[in-house]
Amino acid sequence: KANMSTISPPPASLLKSMSFPQKLLMGPGPSNAPPRVLNASALPLLGHLHTEFIQIMDEVKEGIQYLFQTKNEWTVCVSGTGHAAMEAAACNLLEPGETVLVGCNGLWGTRFSDMAERNGAVVQKISKPMGQVFSLSDIEEGLKQHKPVLLFLTHGESSGSTLQPLEGVGKLCHKYNCLLLVDSVAACEIDALYTGAQKVLSAPPGASPLSFSQRAKEKVINRKTKVRSYYFDMNELANYWGCDQGPRRYHHTGPITSIYGIREGLARLVEEGLESSWKNHKKCVELLYEGVQNLGLELFVQDPAVRLPCVTAVKVPPGVNWKDVSDYCMKNYRVEISGGLGDQAGKIWRIGIMGYNAQPDNVRMVLRALEAGLKNARGQSE
Ligand code: PMP
Repeated sequence: KANMSTISPPPASLLKSMSFPQKLLMGPGPSNAPPRVLNASALPLLGHLHTEFIQIMDEVKEGIQYLFQTKNEWTVCVSGTGHAAMEAAACNLLEPGETVLVGCNGLWGTRFSDMAERNGAVVQKISKPMGQVFSLSDIEEGLKQHKPVLLFLTHGESSGSTLQPLEGVGKLCHKYNCLLLVDSVAACEIDALYTGAQKVLSAPPGASPLSFSQRAKEKVINRKTKVRSYYFDMNELANYWGCDQGPRRYHHTGPITSIYGIREGLARLVEEGLESSWKNHKKCVELLYEGVQNLGLELFVQDPAVRLPCVTAVKVPPGVNWKDVSDYCMKNYRVEISGGLGDQAGKIWRIGIMGYNAQPDNVRMVLRALEAGLKNARGQSE
């Protein structure tokens, strides 16, 4: 019998119900999920190798292939958030002593460099200030100089709100016998590509699409050393996701309800169609640009061609404290607007327009909140 005096009392916080304010999540993620996705995440559990669940996994795989516009066999969801997919890419594609070239123009290149180092790789960087992107000649110079086995680029740099052009980058990498790993969405000759669930897919964070090309797959199969992570070993994940001939083995328990959620998020995208989704995001972000400029504010990314449609960075004007404004928006409008990261902390706001949230009414709501927050921060009454 347990000695009662050694048992800590039950925490009173768990005896109350959870608090769920309704918020409009217009930061760089998570974005709001539609009822359909939320309802799916509340459905009964199935076993992680049950026929019905495998069917759902297969549907998710087809959805990811559509999302990434790829036929890659090795297309899976990594169990975990975007960082898990990043870790999976790093530990599968790099062996100790190999050189990786990392494009650093914001937070994500720096993070990936850290992961690559932890896997024993030699990290070389090409760098640009936040808000700028790499040209083909910047990239070629780096490839020539460092002869990496892998190049990492962030397509949608959410910290600097830039869209890295990818046209021609894959071809260039392959000319220098280097694989191309991209954080984000579709473009040609990408060898490894991942994304998160909680952004444009409007699903809960927890299962992250990752796809490897034939070249990337061969690199993993021909490794001299074992993938350092058991959990993220693509040989195992590909089997669990039915990407090889063999019967599916138990590797780990899939995050069942996260997979239901991403299944419905992908279904939403499939119904809308990629092209109309892109058009809709563009329409909404243009409304945002116009509104922001009408408020006398300036966009952070100067070159319109490399502005990221899903996350927009706006400069905080002199004399205004960014946090006063974003706190005001949350308190009075229940609207989330995020601040900057790294050397842009305190200098920019980041406004996300993603998936289900990409609706003109939501953009108008953010603009109203921002206007009121600015007036308040400047000491003017509304
Ligand atoms: N890469 C990029 C470009 C991101 O914006 C994020 C999320 N902010 C991540 C990776 C990491 O994803 P997560 O927070 O889901 O782990």
